[in-house]
Amino acid sequence: MNLGFYFILAIFFILIFFAVMIAKSATGQEIYSDINIEEWLCPNCGFEVQAGDICIYCDTPKE
Ligand SMILES: [Zn+2]
Repeated sequence: MNLGFYFILAIFFILIFFAVMIAKSATGQEIYSDINIEEWLCPNCGFEVQAGDICIYCDTPKE
């Protein structure tokens, strides 16, 4: 009886552990995609920058 209780408790903590890990990785991917998806036009040379905050042609930072 007691063994079964601790077994369920252990599974419960493992599930919480995996839920936290998935939540952390999902948040990290969201931040990563926010940086990379955003496109902007370079005010100096007019190049459409696909990723990052600095123009790859003239090194002009975004805004
Ligand atoms: Zn540029």
